[in-house]
Amino acid sequence: VIQCFSPNWNERPPGCDIDLVVLHYTGMQTGDEALARLCDPEAEVSAHYMIEEDGTVFQLVPEEKRAWHAGVSSWCGRDNINHYSIGIELVNPGHEFGYRAFPDRQIDSLLEVLAGIKSRHFIPCNGYIGHSDIAPDRKTDPGELFPWHILSKEGFGVCADTEGHSQTVLLRDGESGAEFEKLNMDLAMLGYSIPSEEAVGPATHALISAFQSHWRQSRVTGYYDVGTAAVLSDLVEKMQEIRNLR
Ligand SMILES: [Zn+2]
Repeated sequence: VIQCFSPNWNERPPGCDIDLVVLHYTGMQTGDEALARLCDPEAEVSAHYMIEEDGTVFQLVPEEKRAWHAGVSSWCGRDNINHYSIGIELVNPGHEFGYRAFPDRQIDSLLEVLAGIKSRHFIPCNGYIGHSDIAPDRKTDPGELFPWHILSKEGFGVCADTEGHSQTVLLRDGESGAEFEKLNMDLAMLGYSIPSEEAVGPATHALISAFQSHWRQSRVTGYYDVGTAAVLSDLVEKMQEIRNLR
């Protein structure tokens, strides 16, 4: 791990335990460019770690300090996710500059960083999340190519057992009612913050896209369909089981 300290951090508020890990992609042409920005006092952004595509790990901010990666965000009923989280940036050009698969060496290094974090902090199974999960209306990183299933296999987070391929739409634009309420309740149980929309509209589509790019990556449509519903109910069941065991 290469220490490359960023000036962009402050203290966590008293009593804020670390219980979330937020994954990002850098969304810039090169890792060098991203590293320069994450350490530039004028940019006012940072993360605790940045991991290059070749697997090199940079530590930019000590874990106990508050890094500036999440922005306006919420998860499990709490806002300001920077208070509670460790932020990890994965070098990838992102959807704007040529989104591509995350190489094995990069993911292997990430797994090592996560194992260290897990040994130091209690992270619940829905505490390994992407930037898009906590800010679905603004962010799409780390995106549908990020291998969440590998993380879950190694004990970091949960994945559904079903692939959820069916694209038969269950809720169309402007629809509300019991199905819409159940969708929102299930998403809230996973941790998502529910938009104040009274029926399916742009905010609901953004939320469903965020859910799909994490848990139903084969088809990110923004629509609530049969496959998405199957994945979501499988996850809700698993979360309930885990909570009952505790
Ligand atoms: Zn991000």
